[in-house]
Amino acid sequence: MDFEAFFRSELDGLKAEGRYRVFADLERRAGRFPRAAFHGPNGPREVTVWCSNDYLGMGQHPAVLAAMREALDACGAGAGGTRNIAGTNHYHVLLERELADLHGKDAALLFNSGYMSNWASLSTLAARIPGCVVLTDAANHASMIEGIRHSRAEKLIFAHNDPQDLRRKLASINPARPKLIAFESVYSMDGDIAPIAEFCDLAEEFGALTYIDEVHAVGLYGPRGGGVSEHEGLSHRLDLIEGTLAKSFGVMGGYVTGSADLCDFIRSFASGFIFSSSLPPALAAGALAAIRHLKTSSAEREGQQDRVRKLRGQLDQAGIPHLTNPSHIVPVMVGDAGLCKRISDELLERFAIYVQPINYPTVARGTERLRITPTPLHCDEDIATLVGALSEIWSATGLKRAA
Ligand code: PMP
Repeated sequence: MDFEAFFRSELDGLKAEGRYRVFADLERRAGRFPRAAFHGPNGPREVTVWCSNDYLGMGQHPAVLAAMREALDACGAGAGGTRNIAGTNHYHVLLERELADLHGKDAALLFNSGYMSNWASLSTLAARIPGCVVLTDAANHASMIEGIRHSRAEKLIFAHNDPQDLRRKLASINPARPKLIAFESVYSMDGDIAPIAEFCDLAEEFGALTYIDEVHAVGLYGPRGGGVSEHEGLSHRLDLIEGTLAKSFGVMGGYVTGSADLCDFIRSFASGFIFSSSLPPALAAGALAAIRHLKTSSAEREGQQDRVRKLRGQLDQAGIPHLTNPSHIVPVMVGDAGLCKRISDELLERFAIYVQPINYPTVARGTERLRITPTPLHCDEDIATLVGALSEIWSATGLKRAA
C-alpha cells in the first residue's frame, strides 16, 4: 500500500467537504484575557478571543497562577509516575478531597482529561457490571460514546433530553438487568440543559445508575460552582458526576465523583486511570486554587451571566440569529460550512475578533455556527465591537436577520 497517498487522499476528502481543521496559532497573554496574540502569515497581532472554554478566565487568575508557581517550585515539573507507582502527589489527594466536597460526594478520582474520565469510567462500568445495558442520550459527547462503545455492553440511544423516550427504552429492558443512564447537564453546542430531575426519577423507578457529564457546568452553576446538579439541589440523586478541570477551572484534567465504593471500583479496574502517569502537581495545585476560589466567590459567575445577557440583548437588537437557551453558550447560527468559515475569517482579518467556525461532525450539517462564549472579562466595548462586526458582515453577505 502507498501509505502516504492514502493519508493524503483521506485528508483531501476532508478538505473537499470543508471539514479540514485549521488551528488558530494563538499565544494567550496572561493578565490580558480575553486578548491573545494571533500568529498569522503577517506575524503576530492582538485579537479578542470570543470562543474560549476558559469560561471565567480562571486560567489567568492571580490565585491560580500563584498556586501553580508555588507548586512548581516546591515539587518540580512532572508527577513522577502513575498514581500507583510513585505518582500520587499530595496535591492530587487534596484536589480529590476538594472535588468530592464540591459535589457532596464521598470520593473523587482524577484523570488526565475530561475525555479520559468519561472514556475510562463508562467503559469500565459498562463492561464490568454483568449484563449492563447503557442508556445514552443521543447528543452525548464523543468521549462518552467511545467509552460505551469500547465496553461492548448493549446500549440504547434515547432521544436528546427526552424523558418519555428514556422511559420507553427503560421499560423495554428486562427488569432484572442492571442499567446505566448517561447524559450531560449543559450541552456544549446548543447550550441546552438536561431535565435532570426527571431522569433521576426514572432512574429510581427502574433501578438504574445515573452518570452525568457536567463538563460545561462545573464552576459556572450552583452557589459553589458544583454544576447544574448543585444549582437544582440534585447532586445527591446522581451516582456519578463527571467534570473537567480545563474549562471554568482554567487548567487541565478530568474527574469523577461518587460514593467511596464506586470511585474505588473505577480506581481499581479502569485501565485509563491505572496505566497513565498522573497530572503534574502544579496543574493539580492550580485547579485546587480555582475550585477553592469559585466555591466562595460568585463574582465571576455573576459577571459571566451579565455578559451573556448583554450580548444576547444586543444580538437581538441587531437581528443576528442565535439559539435561545438557559446557559452561558451563545450559538450564532449560520447554517453553511463555507459561509461560517468566511465569516470567521472576516471577523479575524477585519475586526481582530477570533471565533472558530463550528462545522460537521461537531454539529449537524445545516446547523453550522459561531459558538460564542462570553466571559466576565469581556467588556462593554468588546460586546459592541463584536455585534457591530457581525451586523456589518450580515448586511454585506445578505444573510437573513432574525425577526
Ligand atoms: N465532555 C464534554 C461534554 C466535552 O465537551 C468535553 C471537551 N470539550 C469533554 C467531556 C472532554 O473534556 P476535556 O477537554 O477535559 O478532555
